[in-house]
Amino acid sequence: KADEDNGRIFLPKIGYIRYRNSRKIEGIPKNVTVREEADGWYVSIQCEFELKPEISIPDIDTAVGIDMGVKRFLTLSDGNFINNLEEKLKPLENKIALLQRRIKHKVKGSNNIKKAYLKLTLLHKRKADIRNNFLHQVSTLLVKNHDVIVIEDLKVRNMSKSAKGSIANPGTKVKAKSGLNRSILNEAWHKFFTYLEYKLKLKGGILIKVNPKHTSQTCIKCGHISKDNRKEQEIFRCVKCGYEAHADHNAAHNILRRAGLARMACQANLIRGRQQEPA
Ligand SMILES: [Zn+2]
Repeated sequence: KADEDNGRIFLPKIGYIRYRNSRKIEGIPKNVTVREEADGWYVSIQCEFELKPEISIPDIDTAVGIDMGVKRFLTLSDGNFINNLEEKLKPLENKIALLQRRIKHKVKGSNNIKKAYLKLTLLHKRKADIRNNFLHQVSTLLVKNHDVIVIEDLKVRNMSKSAKGSIANPGTKVKAKSGLNRSILNEAWHKFFTYLEYKLKLKGGILIKVNPKHTSQTCIKCGHISKDNRKEQEIFRCVKCGYEAHADHNAAHNILRRAGLARMACQANLIRGRQQEPA
C-alpha cells in the first residue's frame, strides 16, 4: 500500500512510514523491495504496465558497432568515442586515499574514527553513483541515436584481445598502472550491456552480439588477420595493405560488419519493395 500523495508506504510488521518519492508509480505495483545503503534506506516499487515500442521497424542505416576498451570506455564504428571516467574520478579517489591515511592515525573505537568511516562509505557510494549515472547517460544517448547496436559477446571474449587487455587477460602491453580495477571494468561493461539491451527493447530496436575473435587484429580494408597489425596499443597498422587507423575504431568496424547487416539491409529493402507493390 503506497500512499503517494502523503509520501507514505505501508510495510508489513512496520506499518506506514514516510518516504521521499523520486517518481510517480506507473501501472500496478506488484512488488516492494527495501534495502539499506550507506546513506539511508531505499524502497523500490516494481510495477506492471504495457508499453508500446517507439518504433515498429528498426532503421538498419543507423546500425553501429561498439568496441569496449580500457582507456576509451567505448569506440563506435562511426569514429566517435567516449573516454573512461577515471580522469573525472581522480579528485574523488584522492579524497578517499587521504581519508584512509588519516584513519590509520585515529584511535580505534573512538567517535572520531566512526565519523571518518561513515564519511569514507559515503565517498565510495558517491563514486558508485557517478559510475552508474555515466552508464545510464551513455546507453540512453546511444539508444536515442541508433536502432541497431552491435556489441561483442563478452562471454566468449578470449585471448585475442590480449594486446589491448581483456577482462580475463589484461595483456602485457597494458600498463599495470592503467589505474583501472579490472573487476570494476568488468562490472561496468556488464551493466552497460544490460542497460543497452532493455533500453533498445523499449524503443523497439535490436541488440546484436557477435563473436569477438580477432576483431582487434583484422584489417577492415583487406581482411588480413595478424597480431602484427596491432603492435602498438592505440594504432592499427595492417602489415599487408598498410591501412592505418585508431585500433579501437578498426575493431568497432569489424564488430559492426560481423553482424551481417548487409544481408539484413537487402532483406529489408526486399520487404519494403514488396510492400510498395499493389496487392
Ligand atoms: Zn589490410
